[in-house]
Amino acid sequence: MPDFNYVDLIPTGPDETPYRLITTEGVRVVEAAGRKFLEVDPEALRLLTFEAIKDIQHLLRPGHLQQLANILEDPEASANDRFVAMDLLKNANVAAGGVLPMCQDTGTAIISGKKGSHVLTTGQDEEHLSRGVFDVYQQLNLRYSQMAPVSMWEERNTATNLPAQIEIYSDTKPGHELQYELFFMAKGGGSANKSYLFQETKAVLNPKAFEAFLDDKLRAIGTAACPPYHLAVVVGGTSAEYALKVAKYASTRYYDSAPVGGGAEGHGYRDLEMEARILKQTQEFGIGAQFGGKYFCHDVRVIRLPRHGASAPIAIAVSCSADRQAKAKITPEGVFLEQLEHDPARFLPDVTHEHLGDAGVQEVVTIDLARPMSEIRETLSTLPIKTRVSLNGPLVVARDIAHSRIKDMLDRGEQMPQYLQDHAVYYAGPAKTPEGMASGSFGPTTAGRMDSYVDQFQKAGGSFVMLAKGNRSQAVTDACDANGGFYLGSIGGPAALLAADCIKKVEVIDFPELGMEAVWKIEVENFPAFVVVDDKGNDFFAETMRPIANRIPVGAPK
Ligand code: SF4
Repeated sequence: MPDFNYVDLIPTGPDETPYRLITTEGVRVVEAAGRKFLEVDPEALRLLTFEAIKDIQHLLRPGHLQQLANILEDPEASANDRFVAMDLLKNANVAAGGVLPMCQDTGTAIISGKKGSHVLTTGQDEEHLSRGVFDVYQQLNLRYSQMAPVSMWEERNTATNLPAQIEIYSDTKPGHELQYELFFMAKGGGSANKSYLFQETKAVLNPKAFEAFLDDKLRAIGTAACPPYHLAVVVGGTSAEYALKVAKYASTRYYDSAPVGGGAEGHGYRDLEMEARILKQTQEFGIGAQFGGKYFCHDVRVIRLPRHGASAPIAIAVSCSADRQAKAKITPEGVFLEQLEHDPARFLPDVTHEHLGDAGVQEVVTIDLARPMSEIRETLSTLPIKTRVSLNGPLVVARDIAHSRIKDMLDRGEQMPQYLQDHAVYYAGPAKTPEGMASGSFGPTTAGRMDSYVDQFQKAGGSFVMLAKGNRSQAVTDACDANGGFYLGSIGGPAALLAADCIKKVEVIDFPELGMEAVWKIEVENFPAFVVVDDKGNDFFAETMRPIANRIPVGAPK
């Protein structure tokens, strides 16, 4: 009979996180029954949540910023990689001002807690944490994204961004009795949608099959979640849901202190060699940081977990360019929050051409959006895919619900609204407009959700020039080929920068009752984009979808 030997499922090392003190109020040590307890007031939980969500909407980790800065210095990075990295760094700088959040999708609030066995609260922690979420989304220029299920088919925005996803566990580790650890995330829809679970078999657990598996699944992630990504791959798991959860947390570098080797007792571990190999594999895709290049990922985390012999879950998740998370802890010394970077400008280089260009890159082509649609299409028709353009003039903004309503109008035999005939359409929905500014953070949303409308809309005389983020289906390439349309890719991620520098005027022109999903007309200046799908059947992203597993050597990474 083997000896009993307890191991944590994923053991972690000491917490090296740098923290800042939020307050010493609302926490005290009390004694009872000969033991010490840490008493935490509801206000401490509310305040910590407020500060944590505020910080992660505006500030990034220094490590993430350094990775963006490294792209600018890498001679193997493409010019488009560097352009995206520079935009994201500038965006971080604007967001750090504390007015415009770094992304217009300010996410679902996700909070997990581990409460030491001698921590006393009033017992309604979820409610006090939710109050902090409520307050911060009400008071800052954030966006409400949560849709209440009123019935199976009817939904309504809760206008508070609640409910949050809150999970509190007890922490029974020796030495943690007087400590309450919390972890805060604000997960946008685009990156949440790129969490995948694959129920595989032992057949995939060998180098060749695993590489071919990843080649297919990782390229399919595409760019809709605004790369460069922090990618996590989890192999195994005591359940499907556990594999997925570990993948999500690993993408935030939550398990970075896990052991780097396995063992017969069954604990999970980080596989550093596989991390380096997968990173190399993603560099070979050519997708790059959105418009071709090397930087599809900043880094990769691979967690290998124990599994039931008849199950082989594989989970994949990403943390996007809004890499929003922060650790926190409440101890007898006070309430502490992870120290994020307040001065991202120190990562910005002196801007020179050498950071943005390289041999063979075309000039930026200026597009006057005030010209008649036929002229705009004529100009775009002369440009090869991947051409960088600078947009100036009016754009109509419409996204999911507006598209659905316009489709209903067309189905009833009504005309395509004139605004979609005359103007290019930007798929987006803004965060709140700060006082005294023309626009709130206003980046693109995922284009793929609008794919099914394109052919019908173009045949009805609208949506000939579309602007958004991410890859599109073959149906869109075919529609643009048949109807003379174009899809321009906007950089996903730098929503604060777009609001501060490029969007000069915003007005609602249709469906005002839809809030951020209304139809808007905006005026843009020097709005950067890339030609992704043209009117001749070309699609930049289709080029990156070719299987390349057979070209990747299996073996130790160089
Ligand atoms: S950076 Fe992109 S994927 Fe991330 S929250 Fe913003 S829009 Fe969504």
